[in-house]
Amino acid sequence: MLILGGTSEATALARALTGRMDIAASLSLAGRTRAPAAQPLPTRIGGFGGIEGLATYLRHDRIDVLVDATHPFATQISRHAREAARLTHCSLIALTRSAWQPQRGDDWHEVEDMDGAVTALGETPQRVFLTVGRLQLAAFAKAPRHHYLVRTIDPVDDHGLPGATFIEARGPFDAVAEERLMRDHRIDILVTKNSGGEAAAGKLHAARALGFPVILVRRPEQGGTAMGVAEAIAAIKAHRASARRGV
Ligand code: NAP
Repeated sequence: MLILGGTSEATALARALTGRMDIAASLSLAGRTRAPAAQPLPTRIGGFGGIEGLATYLRHDRIDVLVDATHPFATQISRHAREAARLTHCSLIALTRSAWQPQRGDDWHEVEDMDGAVTALGETPQRVFLTVGRLQLAAFAKAPRHHYLVRTIDPVDDHGLPGATFIEARGPFDAVAEERLMRDHRIDILVTKNSGGEAAAGKLHAARALGFPVILVRRPEQGGTAMGVAEAIAAIKAHRASARRGV
């Protein structure tokens, strides 16, 4: 079995499968973060070289279950996983997080993309907490009137955001610490992607408690029903059972 990872759910799934004698599982990371979190399964790092590259890997390692546990915004690898699984007749299990939904007291503004988020920030200078990932910062360079507090996992070298404050941290983040951080930096507004999941939800709870608005970049539509780690394990077990019966 191969897990396409890079998320806390992938790590949780890897942990749940560690030590099982009936499943030879390994994990794949894209290699975006400089020091990836330690993983409990054998791990390979780097792209496969498109759909064909992934299909070749699946055949070579005789993978019969491919688990797509990548981030909801990582649409390319998920498309590659679907295609490569089809080409190699490999079973595909896709972990799908539910998008975050607004709750009472939320002041959310949904936008399609990063440019939409920049527009939604408006003309009046604001103190913005930006948690969109290191590779998505360029759009905000067009609105230097705002002050940005940027949180990323790795340091950001070439950001085009003079005067911004940078912090490096890896989730999960709890709501109390998020609230403290936003108070300390006198934040007016949060910009984030609607990634869903628990590990990153603390900032939304904090924004609600502090009563300030959130600009949410809508997630790309990838289809499929929500499947968490527990459901994925059940699906893997069901696959094992049917393989043993020769179904
Ligand atoms: P992407 O745009 O969907 O994929 C770009 C390329 O990166 C893929 O075509 C593939 O290269 C390679 N790749 C992606 N995930 C891989 C994996 N798990 N193992 C091996 N190769 C992988 O992906 P992305 O948005 O850049 O995300 C990259 C990684 O960061 C993913 O593992 C994702 O789970 C994680 N992540 C992404 C976000 C986000 O907001 N996008 C947030 C948190 C974590 P080849 O075509 O050469 O195979």
